[in-house]
Amino acid sequence: MTVLVTGGAGYIGSHMTYGLVDRGEKVVVLDNLSTGVRSLISEQATFVAGDVSDQSLVRRLMREHDIDAVIHFAGSIVVPESVEQPLRYYANNTVASRALIESCVEEGVRNFVFSSTAAVYGIPDASMVTEQTPKEPINPYGRSKLMTEWMLQDAAKAHDFHYVALRYFNVAGADPKGRTGQSTPRATHLIKRACQAALGRVPALDIFGTDYPTPDGTGVRDYIHVSDLIAAHLLALDALRAGTKAEIFNCGYGRGLSVREIIKAVEKVTGHPLPVREGARRAGDPPMLVADSAKLKRTLCWTPKYDDINIIVSSAYAWEKRFNS
Ligand code: UDP
Repeated sequence: MTVLVTGGAGYIGSHMTYGLVDRGEKVVVLDNLSTGVRSLISEQATFVAGDVSDQSLVRRLMREHDIDAVIHFAGSIVVPESVEQPLRYYANNTVASRALIESCVEEGVRNFVFSSTAAVYGIPDASMVTEQTPKEPINPYGRSKLMTEWMLQDAAKAHDFHYVALRYFNVAGADPKGRTGQSTPRATHLIKRACQAALGRVPALDIFGTDYPTPDGTGVRDYIHVSDLIAAHLLALDALRAGTKAEIFNCGYGRGLSVREIIKAVEKVTGHPLPVREGARRAGDPPMLVADSAKLKRTLCWTPKYDDINIIVSSAYAWEKRFNS
């Protein structure tokens, strides 16, 4: 039994690979290194450079390594880029996933964990989002992921193929052992940008909007530590191996933090005021996005260990200092 991790050289995929090898699993990482970083992959994993859409390669790997499960992270994830280059996003995310799912079906690899996103909800009416909240993605990125969820749903009905889709809220932080972290160049995420500003690598942190209908006027999100997210994947994998057929779960802590609260947390961790610039809202940002993750806790017995913004920010900051120094 071996797990195929696609996109295993990326931020979340590299944490996944460590999570798997740490518990003694055999892992093959497939990554085309378009945004991934080779050095983030655990040396205990087998690395193969290539595309998930290369079916002859993927099918050969599945046979040669006795793959019983796929955890699929590979794809493009930058929302504004998806608006400018929608066809690239549909190719990298939807079309490539279709090929991968087909390879699984053809090779009898029936366990599939999919990296989905809260972007499938668009701008929800409710501030607490359940899995039943209407799916109305507002950008090609969210649509490309939702389309993949639909393919998984249909394939699971038609074939001996099982899946769990995990809808991530705001993933942040880094491996507590310091082995990997967010390393994507040109990252746009708040905590990463705040750490870069704290280290003087960007002149200031821009606050995108101070007039939202939230307690302090800035956007509210549910920040989840990457290690708790990885724990959810391991539970999903175990559930699939035990016979789960098709499930979708929100991944977040169920508590919202504003941009200003994140800034305070960064200042507490660094011990210095953070240079900030207040600016206009960023197009397409909902005021508030918080996960109702009751289903994940109830069904998979997920128990978060790092639900503390100081731990999240400290680990992200420690990684930021190390990775770019
Ligand atoms: N944000 C910000 N400045 C930044 C990056 C993000 O004010 O440099 C805000 C953004 O408007 C949102 C929150 O921080 O309210 C989280 O944004 P991020 O890009 O981290 O994740 P998203 O929720 O868009 O996936």
